[in-house]
Amino acid sequence: MTESWDCVIIGGGASGFFCAINILRNKPDAKVIILEKTNKTLSKVRVSGGGRCNVTHDCLDPKTMSGNYPRGSQLMKKQLKQFGVKQTIDWFNNSGIELVTESDGRMFPITNSSETIAVFFEDEFRRLGGVLHFKVEVKDLKQKSDAFQITTSKIEYLAKSVVIAIGGVPKDKIAPLIQPNPLKIKDTLPSLFSMKINDTALTSLSGVSIPAGRVKVTGRYWYDGPILITHWGLSGPAILKMSAFDAEYLHQVQYQSDLLIDWTGGINENDYLLQLNDLANKSLKSIQNEKLIDIPQRLWEFILVKSEIDLKLKYNNLSKLNRNKLMESLLRMPFKTIGKTTFKEEFVTCGGISLKELNANYEITAISGLYAIGEVIDVDGVTGGYNFQNAWTSAFIAAKSISERIN
Ligand SMILES: Cc1cc2nc3c(=O)[nH]c(=O)nc-3n(C[C@H](O)[C@H](O)[C@H](O)COP(=O)(O)OP(=O)(O)OC[C@H]3O[C@@H](n4cnc5c(N)ncnc54)[C@H](O)[C@@H]3O)c2cc1C
Repeated sequence: MTESWDCVIIGGGASGFFCAINILRNKPDAKVIILEKTNKTLSKVRVSGGGRCNVTHDCLDPKTMSGNYPRGSQLMKKQLKQFGVKQTIDWFNNSGIELVTESDGRMFPITNSSETIAVFFEDEFRRLGGVLHFKVEVKDLKQKSDAFQITTSKIEYLAKSVVIAIGGVPKDKIAPLIQPNPLKIKDTLPSLFSMKINDTALTSLSGVSIPAGRVKVTGRYWYDGPILITHWGLSGPAILKMSAFDAEYLHQVQYQSDLLIDWTGGINENDYLLQLNDLANKSLKSIQNEKLIDIPQRLWEFILVKSEIDLKLKYNNLSKLNRNKLMESLLRMPFKTIGKTTFKEEFVTCGGISLKELNANYEITAISGLYAIGEVIDVDGVTGGYNFQNAWTSAFIAAKSISERIN
């Protein structure tokens, strides 16, 4: 059996649905179908943000917003001017979904439930006349003279436009969809993970967190934000940010690297050294009971032990060596990572279809009518709503271009 469509969307995830709905809103008579390989749609939307769906981030300036994309930041800077955070908030508002902002800038549906987004997408798509076929895994795509052809055991789908919206899958699953090969597809690698550290003194502090720390892989850049000690090592926004920006490097070294932690969040080292010297000159206070910086007591004691300082010592008995060691431990405590774990809240893949292969409408330049959106392209963001924003932005812009092709 052969079916003809104006647009076939491969993948029933966030970007696929957003694209389909926007095409159908632009062109109510368009014939649009989503082919989804599983028997469920929007699985990641449903589990996202701990079941709350962190839809976007409250940052209206494209330049600032784009700084949160380790890969694709130049493209995002340009595209967010067309469909950015403001347009996203308005889009959801106009669809009856109010978004609210948390103190750290993350935006969620007011219901605090990802079901609100998933159910709305499914209902709206159906209401607009979209069709969905479950359990259709598209394994390859051929180009006929005036249409794309997708052949499955039961149905042959012909389409004027095709959208690849398959998320972060391995490179060898993407390549057969982009004919003729070879186009540049980067290896897909994990991003947004926490680090395993084999240090029982550290992991015995599981649950301790600091609101403002810094972390870096030795020889690379510092990343700041909250740090959380877990039973396997280190996590929290600063670690996740580092894992995203250094994702390719960490993969290269098989996630075995030297890390430095700054527990102070970047204090002025000289000021603190002066303060410490001053205390060492005259204070009779016990070092254990008088913390130099505002961190949990258990962490302070851990830092003292790492600095080989007797907890019973008084400040005025601190030697110069003690003081130097303490400053080093506070500002640059070294750890060795022995692997990565998957952060339970959010993970994405980096890599995918190279941005060099796409035009400004997310159409593959060498193959007119074939589009790629969402996580399958080489754009990924840090945690906080940035990855969904890439899905909305790319899907909206592609939908506009596809709609213009439909009579
Ligand atoms: C646990 C978790 C929590 C997250 N939380 C957040 C968050 O709160 N905020 C945020 O911004 N980001 C979050 N993310 C990231 C975000 O979910 C993704 O970046 C986003 O879903 C990508 O959308 P997509 O449409 O590109 O891909 P996906 O949502 O992955 O959808 C791809 C769809 O394509 C289907 N598919 C794949 N291959 C084929 C094929 N060959 N044929 C047919 N169908 C196919 C898949 O089954 C899937 O349904 C989270 C991710 C995870 C894993």
